[in-house]
Amino acid sequence: MRPVCIPCEMEMACTKVGAFVESMTADGPYQIWSVDVYTCPVCKCEVGAKMANSPIARHFEPTYEAFAKSRYARAWGSMHELSQYAEKETGA
Ligand SMILES: [Zn+2]
Repeated sequence: MRPVCIPCEMEMACTKVGAFVESMTADGPYQIWSVDVYTCPVCKCEVGAKMANSPIARHFEPTYEAFAKSRYARAWGSMHELSQYAEKETGA
């Protein structure tokens, strides 16, 4: 099943195949993942879905920068990871 836009109650359409999303951690860029982009036909909200089983580049690999330059979006982790990031940034 395709992703569903909850506010609009509409199935989202695949509008881009193979977009690169850069996953981020509190320590900075981490991995590049290939995803498909789905767009809500009503509100135009976009989501990255159908992520591959493994990243196509990791931060320590020589090909990382090339993929990172053509990234479509960045993905910050869970709320737990975000709180760690905020603590690191604020020194809290
Ligand atoms: Zn929508």
